Amino acid sequence: MLNSPISEIVFRDRRFFVKRDDLLDRDFSGNKARKFYYFLKNDFSGIKNLVSFGSSQSNAMYSLSVLAKIKNWKFYYFTNHISSFLKNNPHGNYKKALENGMNIFESRFDFMRELAKREDTLFIKEGGALKEASFGIEILAKEILSFAKERGFKNLAVFLPSGTGTTALYLQKFLPFRVYTCACVGDEEYLKKQFGELEDKNFFPKILKLDKKYHFGKLYAEFYAVWRELKEKTGIEFDLLYDPKGWLTLLGHLKEFENREILYIHQGGLIGNESMLRRYERKFKEKLC
Ligand SMILES: *Cc1c(COP(=O)(O)O)cnc(C)c1O
Repeated sequence: MLNSPISEIVFRDRRFFVKRDDLLDRDFSGNKARKFYYFLKNDFSGIKNLVSFGSSQSNAMYSLSVLAKIKNWKFYYFTNHISSFLKNNPHGNYKKALENGMNIFESRFDFMRELAKREDTLFIKEGGALKEASFGIEILAKEILSFAKERGFKNLAVFLPSGTGTTALYLQKFLPFRVYTCACVGDEEYLKKQFGELEDKNFFPKILKLDKKYHFGKLYAEFYAVWRELKEKTGIEFDLLYDPKGWLTLLGHLKEFENREILYIHQGGLIGNESMLRRYERKFKEKLC
């Protein structure tokens, strides 16, 4: 673990550095690995079950299935709905989590609450938005700091797209540099509310916005286009759920960073690309071929 190099890329005539948390580990990678590192490293004797909830293709679900497997815990995961297409054609995070022994339940939240009360059960909130996440993110911050020192970057700008905002928030807490983000799930107000549940305003990252509203999980031609251009021009595959909005936002605000180096945090999520790519291919059939 903790093999996360920093790549230097040139994209649309500008230099960026990319922190490669996608390369951390074959099974336990991306920001979920950072967020759940606390649970990996500490002793939880007495715990037998891991319980969480969220969407049936989530990156967090897959990473928790890996954690449960390593820790020898039984993994119970609760979701509102699993589409019949996914049930009949398991793929992506869903398939991999099932292979790791996940027990998935549709809308049995009564059972979830019952399990969560048990002393031998660890309950983790959707998306891993918890204080314990700071443990692994502080290590990420230290890696960034030592890179900046080595290169003599005193005014580095750090950018990463947010879901719950947990990663961006703790990075801002542990770094002397300004951290910039954008809201992918919900709007800016939602994101600030999420920040506020974990820390006070001093540690809030700066939220950058685009004029156009995008809805989480929906497909947009410009998302696919920037994702593909990045892959072709830099050789790096980014995630298709958060990174397209992240890059469009960053590219739309480059004036703010004119004399500064930018570090983009690659937060993994590549197993999820399998399901996203299938959806894109179905939706834009004519255009992609
Ligand atoms: C979960 C995830 C995010 C969002 O992380 P938060 O800490 O919830 O903001 C961003 N990118 C990828 C690839 C993720 O898996």
